[in-house]
Amino acid sequence: MAIRLVTMLGVGLIGTEIIWQLWKRIGRNHKLASRQRTAISEVFIFSDECSHCRNHANTRIPCNKNCPVASIKRLIHYLDASHSTLDVCIYIMTSQDITKAIIEAQRRKVLVRVIVDANMSENSACFYQLELLKRNGVRVRMQRSNVSLMHHKFALIDNEIMIYGSTNWTMQAFYGNFDGILVTNQHEFVKPFINEFNRMWEELNFEEILLGN
Ligand SMILES: [Zn+2]
Repeated sequence: MAIRLVTMLGVGLIGTEIIWQLWKRIGRNHKLASRQRTAISEVFIFSDECSHCRNHANTRIPCNKNCPVASIKRLIHYLDASHSTLDVCIYIMTSQDITKAIIEAQRRKVLVRVIVDANMSENSACFYQLELLKRNGVRVRMQRSNVSLMHHKFALIDNEIMIYGSTNWTMQAFYGNFDGILVTNQHEFVKPFINEFNRMWEELNFEEILLGN
């Protein structure tokens, strides 16, 4: 009798677990499908007017709708939304908040790849962020060329959404430069950058970034 009861309980628990996993998968697929259906088009503009926002950057609270704090939050929102791949191709990055979001993606088992310019990677603020990425298992490659800059600034989320613009992911760019970023999931725009990222990752003269001591 006791054995039968334990068996029934076991079967019941396994059944509940299966239903729970199925429910989660349905929810995930539904979220993904609705994201694919909805057109994403968002623009962030940075200018000299953003420089006063440097004073409250640490509060993480936007002072108005054009505040760079709000724009950075939106960028991180997109990075946080990645669930399968995250490809970043950026001339220079020094933003700690963005580094943290990339590392979080890696921790979620997202396949993360980062490409940077080799010369810029020697900038100490950038090198520090790249070291953090590497220490957390993120694959980082850089191009060393005396002729061409690796001057791109884009990121691809799940090969569906692209963050693109003139803006490096630095305090100077977010809080002082005249720069812009747009976010889109329009496939005609995203697809060529997926192809280019993959080509660069595999074919160009990149080297893995070395960790400091
Ligand atoms: Zn502000």
